Amino acid sequence: MENVDSQEIRKFEALASRWWDPNSEFKPLHEINPLRMNYISQKLNLAGKRVADIGCGGGILAEAMAHHGARVTAVDMADASLSVARLHQLQSKLDIDYRKQSAEQLAAAEPAQFDVVTCLEMLEHVPSPAAVIQACHDMVKPGGAVFFSTINRNPKSYVFAILGAEYVLNLLPRGTHDYARFIKPSELAQWSRDSDLNLQDQIGMGYNPLTKKYFLQANLDVNYLAHYTRPDCA
Ligand code: SAH
Repeated sequence: MENVDSQEIRKFEALASRWWDPNSEFKPLHEINPLRMNYISQKLNLAGKRVADIGCGGGILAEAMAHHGARVTAVDMADASLSVARLHQLQSKLDIDYRKQSAEQLAAAEPAQFDVVTCLEMLEHVPSPAAVIQACHDMVKPGGAVFFSTINRNPKSYVFAILGAEYVLNLLPRGTHDYARFIKPSELAQWSRDSDLNLQDQIGMGYNPLTKKYFLQANLDVNYLAHYTRPDCA
């Protein structure tokens, strides 16, 4: 059975033409992108590294990493998003290898081939996040890094990520997120340990509705990013 929720994929397909419109439904991703890109590039130098971006959408993160000199392979299961990504990179003069593959398919095709794997804002859209985490482990080289980001699950994250973002501030279309699929940092850490990935660091992301600015913070209650590594071969 494939670890893909076709309803989720259809939701992204319907929005795909607007991936690169900074004032569209994807505005929050455009605005957090420099923050998460800085976080990643403070952890490691992407220049010349082989990077897999899982659930790449229109390529917002994949392009930023390519601009930092990474050799990026980016996968998604939404055809329309991949078409937009392929077209956009012509304009950006980049050479990202966009493929229609799931994380599991990429891991099977290229085991232990990537220096870095990024899987941002994707785990909360799949039936089995643990299987995606295992695939991220399998495709990264021993000693390599894996970055995840997702949304915590607690009353505060319900208020901020669903009521606030989808109903009050209209930052995201209603129905973008399903509370039951949110992932506690402890769950992410447990699944990662089960897949032999070691937690290095995690950081929260906040939003100030008055200044309309996102920022990184120690508090992991709502959105958060995590840095894991695959142990080196003994
Ligand atoms: N990672 C990007 C996009 C996040 S939106 C960013 O942070 O900017 C979530 C993306 O995950 C969508 O593009 C959706 O099509 C993709 N996705 C959902 N389920 C998937 C699956 N099983 N395999 C691959 N991609 C998937």
